Amino acid sequence: MYQQHDTMSDDNPIFDQLKKELLEHFEKIHGMEPFIIAVAPARVNLIGEHIDYCDGFVLPAGINRHVVIAAAPNGTSEANLHSTMLPDQPATVMLDEPQTPGQPKWADYIRGVFDGFCDKGFWPLPGFDAVIHANIPLGAGLSSSAAIEVAAATMVEGLLGIEINPKNKALLCQRAERKFAGVPCGIMDQFASVFAKNDHFVLIDCRSEEAQPIPFTDKSISMVIADTNVHHELSDGAYANRRKQTEIALSIIGKESWREVTMDDLDAVKEEMNEVVYRRARHVITEIDRTQQAAIAVSQGKTGEVGEMMAASHRSLRDDFEVSCKELDAMVEIAWDIGIDGGVLGSRMTGGGFGGSTITLVRTEKVEEVMAEMRSRYQEQTGIKPQIFSTRAVDGARQEER
Ligand code: ADP
Ligand code: MG
Repeated sequence: MYQQHDTMSDDNPIFDQLKKELLEHFEKIHGMEPFIIAVAPARVNLIGEHIDYCDGFVLPAGINRHVVIAAAPNGTSEANLHSTMLPDQPATVMLDEPQTPGQPKWADYIRGVFDGFCDKGFWPLPGFDAVIHANIPLGAGLSSSAAIEVAAATMVEGLLGIEINPKNKALLCQRAERKFAGVPCGIMDQFASVFAKNDHFVLIDCRSEEAQPIPFTDKSISMVIADTNVHHELSDGAYANRRKQTEIALSIIGKESWREVTMDDLDAVKEEMNEVVYRRARHVITEIDRTQQAAIAVSQGKTGEVGEMMAASHRSLRDDFEVSCKELDAMVEIAWDIGIDGGVLGSRMTGGGFGGSTITLVRTEKVEEVMAEMRSRYQEQTGIKPQIFSTRAVDGARQEER
């Protein structure tokens, strides 16, 4: 369906095609041109995993996969929502009534955004018709959910003719995900979709909730995302369980925040905690450190160092935090095995784990070969067909001209 190798030139045929299709859908359904086009990217996290809820750092980038929304006021008090990905599940949302989660489920992400605006005093919102189009695989760990929330919030800004502070917009969307989709997420996904920047990663300090762009301008390096196409069921319970274990560890260490904890602090209380909790804590401490180091290395173009930190991050997630799975390990090990001579600079699992995707940094000239080899070897080893594509770091949410 989509072009598999995203060229690093300045034009963006993948995005242009998405927008063109959006306008065609809107015209077909509503017989007119939209008033507003709002756009928000998916994201991939380079490093800094499972530490967003530990006052840590994360280092995501917006990727060239988007949710795009076209909308026009309809003079009623209803929002009519149509997603091209779920065309048999249109939603009508009453805007002059309090928002509650309901059916269809996908519209909860948008109801949650309406509720956030209501919470800020924007009530009732004016009625409108909207078509939502996207090229993000759902549930692949690339945060289509944050993209739809952030695109929806950007659309509401356009309808109201206002702009809210970007940080508050990201927090409003995080609240929507927590309150309406019931996902106890940290701030990474929504911050990434708002603060993403062309040719940059975004270093997000999850304690101060500040985002800092980190230049990643070397066109000779591409990002390859490999969706393992597995999603193991245990992920919800395991997520809650990992959060709990990090809380237990921090209380035994006796510090306010993970940011003040060193390996020496942890080792001083090693005997007071069980071995599993110790390993969870070791992941948090080492990953916070690696993420800060990686941001510096990225900005200095020291990609070899970044690759080593990605490998260390993967091993820590696999062995200490235990959130990888055999398919993620297989995909990462294939990339490691192709190695620097084959064009691979670094590879690791990305996102919450137990399935989902990996991120690999690859020499742009070798991208096609590397992707082909990852695809065939992964399928040979697991019997599962993966989805693999190359992408680049793009700008965050915005309104677009027609
Ligand atoms: P991820 O964020 O990793 O893609 P989630 O399970 O958090 O996975 O979010 C996926 C859900 O978000 C979908 O099941 C759907 O409810 C909603 N969603 C995301 N993008 C769209 C879209 N384009 N149209 C309709 N719903 C969407
Ligand atoms: Mg999500």
